[in-house]
Amino acid sequence: MLCKAGLPRIRFMNHPSNTYAVVFEKVTRAFGEVIAVDDIDLQIRDGEFFTMLGPSGSGKTTCLRMIAGFDRPTRGKVFLHGADVTYVPPYERDVNTVFQDYALFPHMSVGDNIAYGLMIRKVGKAERQRRVEQMLEMVRLPGYAARRPSQLSGGQRQRVALARALINEPSVLLLDEPLGALDLKLRQQMQVELKSLQQRLGITFIFVTHDQEEALSMSDRIAVFNAGKVEQVGTPAQIYENPETAFVAGFVGTSNMISGELARRLAGVAAKFALRPEKIHLGPIDAPVMADSIAVDGTVADVDYLGLYTRYLVELDQSETLTVVQQNLQTTATDVAAHQGQRVRLQWSKAHMLKLRD
Ligand code: ATP
Repeated sequence: MLCKAGLPRIRFMNHPSNTYAVVFEKVTRAFGEVIAVDDIDLQIRDGEFFTMLGPSGSGKTTCLRMIAGFDRPTRGKVFLHGADVTYVPPYERDVNTVFQDYALFPHMSVGDNIAYGLMIRKVGKAERQRRVEQMLEMVRLPGYAARRPSQLSGGQRQRVALARALINEPSVLLLDEPLGALDLKLRQQMQVELKSLQQRLGITFIFVTHDQEEALSMSDRIAVFNAGKVEQVGTPAQIYENPETAFVAGFVGTSNMISGELARRLAGVAAKFALRPEKIHLGPIDAPVMADSIAVDGTVADVDYLGLYTRYLVELDQSETLTVVQQNLQTTATDVAAHQGQRVRLQWSKAHMLKLRD
């Protein structure tokens, strides 16, 4: 069967009833004593922007490599569009990878780099040229075909790497920290571009990063990895507003962790809770307690003016400390500094005490 661009379609593409691009069924990958991926189940939907987020060494890249076929599970199965590909080699999988270091061929022109996949498949020269131009348009680099990678900026190289992967029309694109080498501004610009490209193409993007802001801003859904396990899968809002574990609450954004006696006193149960610093309202010690709120008194031990907002460290009368973040709507640096050492009342809605799994 041939697809619209004349490339042979791989047999496992014919699963219209299956809505998952990638499924992991009880996948484990051990390297000797090291369990890189520990009994993971995952379902990645067709056409979604899915991010694997986690600290260094948590198993994200190993998962990506098993989707690409560069690595195999020690136990468990990997499915692509409903077909078991656990033992299918990389070149027979309908996926392409964009790496952090771009892996462009330095001795080839931009055009030849992009056309590489088509050349391997013996697509004719005229068709190759047409498609390269189309790709260069898409990544906003028209007229760059004759340049060498060394004559491009980091962001431009990244776009060439994307074009080179996308020209193969994969149904799944794997991106392993592709923006890691870019400066903050370019990184933010590329985040917007990647997301809009994914929406226009409608193909599944599986993105690996340890940057929580990047994950929150781009993804349809995020899987948070910790020590070879998936702690939680959800939309950015679900992950941020309802973290299920202490790890997720601490890794995605920052959280005050409340447990034991303080939890019992504030929430009536000695369970584990997370409380986001920006959900806490800081007011004068005699402020009336609002409805459906929890209130606690303390002393401001530290004030950090950060331009957009101020971070306060408040020592509670019960010897615990809470971090509070307040936007600087009306306040100046001098105003906030005056809070140092003051007695204050902290309040937050009961709904913002987020109960965590053990
Ligand atoms: P990073 O963000 O640093 O890339 P990661 O979350 O992608 O980290 P992995 O690269 O998947 O993590 O590694 C998970 C664990 O498996 C780490 O402890 C790593 O040292 C180990 N590991 C990965 N590949 C190998 C290998 N080929 N041989 C031995 N150990 C490995």
